[in-house]
Amino acid sequence: MSRTVEAVVLYEPGKVAVEARRCDEPGPGEVVIAPSVVGICGSDIHLYQDGRIGESVVREPLVLGHEAAGRIAAVGAGVAGFHEGDRVIVEPGIACGQCRFCVRGRYNLCPAVRFLGIPPTNGLMAGGVRVPARWVYHWPDSLSDAEGAMIEPFAVGLQAVEEAGIQPGDSVAILGAGPIGLMILQAARIRGAGQIISIDLAQKPLEMARRLGASAVINPRETDPISAVRELTGGDGADVVIEAVGATPTIKQTLELVRRGGTITLVGIASESAIPLNTTKIVRTGLQLRSSFRYAHQHPVAIFLATAGRVDLRTLITHHFPIGQAPEAFDFVTQHKNDVIKGVVEFTTAG
Ligand SMILES: [Zn+2]
Ligand SMILES: [Zn+2]
Repeated sequence: MSRTVEAVVLYEPGKVAVEARRCDEPGPGEVVIAPSVVGICGSDIHLYQDGRIGESVVREPLVLGHEAAGRIAAVGAGVAGFHEGDRVIVEPGIACGQCRFCVRGRYNLCPAVRFLGIPPTNGLMAGGVRVPARWVYHWPDSLSDAEGAMIEPFAVGLQAVEEAGIQPGDSVAILGAGPIGLMILQAARIRGAGQIISIDLAQKPLEMARRLGASAVINPRETDPISAVRELTGGDGADVVIEAVGATPTIKQTLELVRRGGTITLVGIASESAIPLNTTKIVRTGLQLRSSFRYAHQHPVAIFLATAGRVDLRTLITHHFPIGQAPEAFDFVTQHKNDVIKGVVEFTTAG
């Protein structure tokens, strides 16, 4: 038996349609979740604009979306702890569980991962999606579905500050104040960072960064970020620099913002895969160059912190679109990148 659900499908760059799709009953170990709110991520917009993200290319119609909260619609055989109607969120990287990376707990590096909403795996922007119960978490009644959809990008932020190894009191400069930059900012605050300096080319993200706890914000269109960060850090540069833009100039700039012996962590994914960096400087000033990719074991932490009121997942959601307007939503978000911090698609009247 299967059900028919509405799904947001990407056909080719610039062409998204809402159409009926079949959702099969859950197999053993699986549940069907009915998302009520799904976030529109920067990677969804990459797919929408370019038909690809990095090596992943849209070759056949793809259901988008990987940031979802909703309800359990059906429970497969052998699944314990979930019942129809339960409020849940989804961790969208379905790792294999068998490879050496999975076995050692670094499942964000699983080469066999099926990441929902990244080609060739269909995503969560659909009225019903089959997911292994292992990747589904209960969501508390005290928080809204929209906030639940923000746990995935918050998990990215938590992973980034863990990889960056932020210590209490560290000065942290974050390049980019989009949703990921803002989640990194909040995760850095929770981790005990001292000064948190947010850098972005647009005014609205910087205002949001201030609201979410940045101690200083810098717009490079108005102020030279290198001298500003030096000034704020007693002439040294930041202890930790995190790059959440994924552009050649900002990746290069990390070397100028960090103090001697400091740590640089790359989170943003650049469209160019080879970027020249001053490796002499990296070695001679004892820099630690690191990266952070997706997340492992962060969802339970993210849910705990959200439930405890330690993170603001609501303020950065600036735009809500009903499912029927999903095609217009993708167009709007693409056209208004500096004004839309986070847009979400709503399937029903979300709580
Ligand atoms: Zn995302
Ligand atoms: Zn694996």
